[in-house]
Amino acid sequence: MHFALTPVHELYLRVPSPLEPLDDDRLSAHGVRLLLKRDDLIHPDMPGNKWRKLALNLAAAREEKQTTLLTFGGAYSNHLRAVAAAGYYFGFETVGVVRGEEHLPLNEVLAVATDFGMQLTYMDRATYRDKTGPAVLAQLAAQFGDCYVLPEGGSNALAVQGCVELSREIAEPFGVICCAVGTGGTLAGIAGGLSDDQHVLGFAVLKGGEFLNDDVAALQQAAFGKVLTNWSIETGFHGGGYAKRTPELTSFIDDFEQRHGLRLDWVYEAKMMLGLYSLIKAGRFDRGTTIVAVLAG
Ligand SMILES: *Cc1c(COP(=O)(O)O)cnc(C)c1O
Repeated sequence: MHFALTPVHELYLRVPSPLEPLDDDRLSAHGVRLLLKRDDLIHPDMPGNKWRKLALNLAAAREEKQTTLLTFGGAYSNHLRAVAAAGYYFGFETVGVVRGEEHLPLNEVLAVATDFGMQLTYMDRATYRDKTGPAVLAQLAAQFGDCYVLPEGGSNALAVQGCVELSREIAEPFGVICCAVGTGGTLAGIAGGLSDDQHVLGFAVLKGGEFLNDDVAALQQAAFGKVLTNWSIETGFHGGGYAKRTPELTSFIDDFEQRHGLRLDWVYEAKMMLGLYSLIKAGRFDRGTTIVAVLAG
């Protein structure tokens, strides 16, 4: 399926996203070459994997003649904000179902989402847990009409298929590609665009991330009709849990910025990069390996 949906507001998407080598003596000491896949530069309102995961869903929504996108997220969900922006640029109404109670004034994420025209509705945590069950979906349909429903975090089969493109864009040879893992949709899709001798290594940003192995397998089954074997997930670099940070992570971010002039997003990218540097230091990769690290924030 090819993405062919005309925006209703002026939109420039930087796709393919740039690939930049990173010079760092901590890497060259181990004979490893690192390239950054700058998905964070695709669009300020729909960065990286958020855009890739939405693209085919927007085309499907249009094809189904849906006029409203509905999705779910926590109060700080970048996915909610990206859906709001996508609605604005491509001419869909958007509804954001936010976990928990309303807090005013709105935080920055939700304020931006409403600026893009998203209608927010709040759902208590117990109901939210059942949000994709038939009862809750029927209640939302009664309230907002027929909608194109995107899951929390945006990871469904079309989202996974949209991320295949990320791997295919990389013209240079590489052996390993790394990404941060929230729901696993991005990792699942990257794996689908690799050749047999390449591997995608994910870094879970939440505690107890072992369940993500099953989630990624289910997403690949839905997207590709089979589970691929060219991926794995590191679960030991969550830094205390989702949106938690350690002093080690903070000093890594500051140091990285000093060396490279690039401030890593601490919820996702910095955890991946700190994990990757730790593995490189531990000699996990053969000398001569080229690694691509996906920046998606
Ligand atoms: C949302 C996000 C992720 C998580 O992607 P999943 O497909 O949910 O695993 C990773 N990195 C960044 C920067 C993100 O914003």
